[in-house]
Amino acid sequence: MSLSSWNYPTAIIAGSGALNKLPDACQSLGIIRPLLVTDPGIAALPMTQTAINLCEESGLSVTLFSDVQGNPTGENVAAGNKVFVDGHHDGIIALGGGSALDCAKAIALSAHQKHEVWQFEDIGDNWTLAVPDLIAPVIALPTTAGTGSEVGRASVITNSAEQRKVIIFHPDMVPKQVLLDPDLTLALPPHITAATGMDALSHSLEALCAPGYHPMADGIATEGIRLVQQNLPTVFHNGADKEARMQMLVASSMGATAFQKGLGAMHAIAHTLGALYNAHHGLLNAILMPYVLDANRSEVEQKMERLARYLDLDGSGTDAVLAWILTLRREVGIPHTLADIGITAEEAERVGKMAVNDPSAGGNPISFTAEQYSQLFTLAVNGKDWS
Ligand SMILES: [Zn+2]
Repeated sequence: MSLSSWNYPTAIIAGSGALNKLPDACQSLGIIRPLLVTDPGIAALPMTQTAINLCEESGLSVTLFSDVQGNPTGENVAAGNKVFVDGHHDGIIALGGGSALDCAKAIALSAHQKHEVWQFEDIGDNWTLAVPDLIAPVIALPTTAGTGSEVGRASVITNSAEQRKVIIFHPDMVPKQVLLDPDLTLALPPHITAATGMDALSHSLEALCAPGYHPMADGIATEGIRLVQQNLPTVFHNGADKEARMQMLVASSMGATAFQKGLGAMHAIAHTLGALYNAHHGLLNAILMPYVLDANRSEVEQKMERLARYLDLDGSGTDAVLAWILTLRREVGIPHTLADIGITAEEAERVGKMAVNDPSAGGNPISFTAEQYSQLFTLAVNGKDWS
């Protein structure tokens, strides 16, 4: 596999062995004292030691920071900021899944600012409070194919005191260099491969369905969906298939690039259920996907007609896309209902109220009311038979 080099939406080197480009990437960004940010699970894997060795062999003074939990907290960011400042670091290597990448980006943004990280919550023009020159450069190496955080301009950080997830945003939070190396994702177990891959699909599908004029996002989303169609079943059945793993990493970056246009009801409900039930984000989107698409069909039929043709599906329009999604979900072991993962309809009213207020709700092609969100959620709990 040869390496590809792209500069949209940021500089990306993609291919097996891209990890070896880490010292070059540090050098070209002027980083000589990188802080390697990851989670404890990844820190224990050989890939972390390989990354450290590569840096040290090139004379870089690298320090490991792995005090990052799943759903990273403000405390994680504060601890990272202290290590970053005390160690006189000048850049960050972000290695891991969405949580590690998000935490790393938040450290890069806030370590040297006089404001604490919460001041950069994605509200109005809060981000202008940050001094751009003080934002540290980030090199991102994703180890899962789903969130696409490596090309994102935001981080989701949990404010433990307020018990809520806060979106931290700055346009310069996009990593300066992304290394998409399929070798880093080979060890992902099938169920995580499936759930994260379906998250990537949900990003592209929701971005495509979101109203608004953004042909670039639509084009990226459409091809991102095709890459999932062609490769997710393969990586689910054969996790060692490097080529298919590569395509899923690209599909993940494409999904997150496309969703700058907007997300929709899948994510509005998934964010809500993630907060209430602590269920896996990608798995929630995967289960919700057909219910939300069906509910949106009156507004997305034309787009689904084009998509069905592009994917070369049997049949046409929303019916064809829906049938494909149902088949794909079955093939990669995604349950059909929320009840299958232990979620009941008991809190339907609360879920509806929270979902309608989620920032992602604004991207849905139909402005569902809280009551409609409750009904949609209840349907996904109980299940619907489309056959
Ligand atoms: Zn998502």
